[in-house]
Amino acid sequence: MNRGPVLRIAVVGAGYVGLVTAACLAELGHAVAAVDSDGARIGALAAGGMPFFEPGLQGLVAAHRMTGRLRFTQRLDDAVRRADLVFIAVGTPTGSDGASDLRAVEAAVFAAAAAVQGPVTMVLKSTVPVGTHERLRRALADAPSAPIVLLNNPEFLREGTAIGDFLRPDRIIVGADGERDAALLLSLYAPLVDAGAQLLCMSPRSAELCKYAANGMLAARISFMNEMAQIADATGADIDEVRAGVGSDRRIGADFLRAGIGYGGSCFPKDVRALSHLARQHGLDARMLDAVAATNERHKRLLFDKMARHYRGEAGLRGKRIALWGLAFKPGTDDLREAPSLSLLKQLEAAGAEVAAYDPVAVPVARRLLGERPGRRWCHSASDALQGADALAVVTEWQEFVGCDPAAVRAALADGVVFDGRNCLPCDDWRGRGLLLVQIGRPPRGTQVFRANLAASTMP
Ligand code: NAD
Repeated sequence: MNRGPVLRIAVVGAGYVGLVTAACLAELGHAVAAVDSDGARIGALAAGGMPFFEPGLQGLVAAHRMTGRLRFTQRLDDAVRRADLVFIAVGTPTGSDGASDLRAVEAAVFAAAAAVQGPVTMVLKSTVPVGTHERLRRALADAPSAPIVLLNNPEFLREGTAIGDFLRPDRIIVGADGERDAALLLSLYAPLVDAGAQLLCMSPRSAELCKYAANGMLAARISFMNEMAQIADATGADIDEVRAGVGSDRRIGADFLRAGIGYGGSCFPKDVRALSHLARQHGLDARMLDAVAATNERHKRLLFDKMARHYRGEAGLRGKRIALWGLAFKPGTDDLREAPSLSLLKQLEAAGAEVAAYDPVAVPVARRLLGERPGRRWCHSASDALQGADALAVVTEWQEFVGCDPAAVRAALADGVVFDGRNCLPCDDWRGRGLLLVQIGRPPRGTQVFRANLAASTMP
């Protein structure tokens, strides 16, 4: 794909963003060294393993270890010494009082600056608060090192579709102090821009805020629809019909309007908190962001509340055997960070229920994170989780669950009730099999019937 010069690139941080970035830049034809301070991670990668699940990534990494364009090291100096470009892709978790913890970014930037031996362009891919670029640029100017140009290039890839998102992005945002500074990064991205990506160059401060604003808006959209779903629940409307009606407005658009039990993951929750914290630092009240965060926490309890209501109170859940389908915060990943499944599992167990949990890819991660306890069973298949279950809760909308046979589920469940926290199960099919299907913001009866009635009543 690359028609320009082959660049020597170091990517610092081999996590979801760093590893995808490294593999995709190798795919574009460059010579990439990925470095991580986690020795076990680098050891596993160097031996052909994968530290996490991301569709297509293992194959891409293996392919470019073969071409020799991608290598792994734990030695930062070895990776960056002769690099033309250094990408910083380390984590920025939530620190105290909601602020972004920038220690890993600072450590990586200063260690890389101390190790480079020639002029280099350093690119902040990690999500960092507004003003970080400027602060680091000043600090670098004071430090003795080879000339360093510092840029901001926020990443917008989504776990589960990360490779496609990186290689065919909607847009590439580059925060730079001037056009000349950005020249090398723009040449790197030229093939993606030629292939249709929109390139937006702006001030580093704007680039930094863009990333938070995008995540804040997406989080707000999710929370808004989840709140509409609760209103639908209370009033007898069907949130899926409302979604169709609202999403067909071109000013609104149809994406990201699915109601459910809240967002999780490594980005939305922490970025909403960090943006609110940033606003407070500037004397502003970010009431909307705070409301989004609080609303989302409430929505994560929603499925448990519905289950408790069905069983006439939390006490009714004592001794119930619940099959839990889905652990990852969304399909296509084994990432469990702030996943709604974790809240539900803890609530169910606190209420005295036994949980048999299954996820197509996230069971090993969940098992490592949560361990074993009496009454808890980690399962190797969806049907394994159903063995001896009274009820089923669906928390991640994996295709495997959407396409499964409701007759088999009905036969397995003693109480015949399914709690669908993602509104992903085809309700007419499932209800047609005699299951009580409880969804979010959807009335107990199928909507097809209602549509047919509506059509009939408007006929002349
Ligand atoms: P991650 O936790 O998966 O990976 C971070 C990696 O950095 C880890 O492997 C860690 O060992 C390594 N690391 C930490 N300090 C280091 C150091 N000093 N030197 C070398 N390696 C070091 O994080 P992630 O999900 O890839 O996120 C990275 C950044 O990208 C964050 O700022 C995040 O907000 C942002 N982001 C993430 C996503 C996503 O979907 N995960 C999407 C867009 C942006």
